[in-house]
Amino acid sequence: MAILRFAPSPNGYLHLGHAYCALLNAATAKHLNGRFLLRIEDIDTTRCIPAYHDACLEDLAWLGLSWEEPVRIQSQHWDDYHSALTRLQQMQLVYPCFCTRREIGSVSSQLDPEGAPIYPGTCKHRTAQDIAQRMQRSEPHAWRLDMQKALSLHTGALSYIRFLLPSMEQEQVAATPARWGDVILVRKETPTSYHLSVVVDDALQNVTHVIRGQDLESATDLHVLLMRLLGLDAPLYHHHKLLAYEQGEKLSKSKKSKSLRDMRAEGVSPDEIKKQLGF
Ligand code: GLU
Repeated sequence: MAILRFAPSPNGYLHLGHAYCALLNAATAKHLNGRFLLRIEDIDTTRCIPAYHDACLEDLAWLGLSWEEPVRIQSQHWDDYHSALTRLQQMQLVYPCFCTRREIGSVSSQLDPEGAPIYPGTCKHRTAQDIAQRMQRSEPHAWRLDMQKALSLHTGALSYIRFLLPSMEQEQVAATPARWGDVILVRKETPTSYHLSVVVDDALQNVTHVIRGQDLESATDLHVLLMRLLGLDAPLYHHHKLLAYEQGEKLSKSKKSKSLRDMRAEGVSPDEIKKQLGF
């Protein structure tokens, strides 16, 4: 059975772009006679606050969406992400990184798909003794994927299946995770990262079709690599176009900053929003 999910991060109020993604997931689940899940991606506990979480559920319900209970809330599942890290540690595919952002920025000129400097690998070359001493001092550290080693484990080309909408036609897409370099899988301040948790959760929730914005398309390369390393089945992916305001293009500033609840307060109805988004 098809299983789809909408996975917002409650670090602000939902906008039209979120509504579009949620509606597209729900409509596709319905079309496939499948299930529709909601997942709250709140691992950034400083920015994701309960008020936004509650508002998110309320706004989605107001739009007319319903989802299965219980809702998976990432901040209640640190153990699952820790298990995934442990597995990668046992495979010696991750290493602790003690560098500060500033240290990395000053030595690296190559950028990853999100525009962050590619990690130059400083901590990859630390001796076991150096690492042990730093750990003993409880020096804050992140955990990074050893990309070169991860890629060397698999000789075959890495790819994933993209599906088109509304046809559901499928095509194979080559994945090139190397462009992310030694990416952080567990942050210094949070015992996981978006990349690690999304992969663990999509597998744990048996998600079959991921529909999300085009801004996350390059991250999929990394996600399918992580899934392969962890022995998880990858879902099929569709990356939808972003609404104009999300691409930082035209559309008036007022619209850009308008949340669904702002629109609701102004008297816009859920039907009007759906119509505007093509549903
Ligand atoms: N939580 C992510 C966001 O709000 C979406 C993650 C996903 O769909 O994979 O951008």
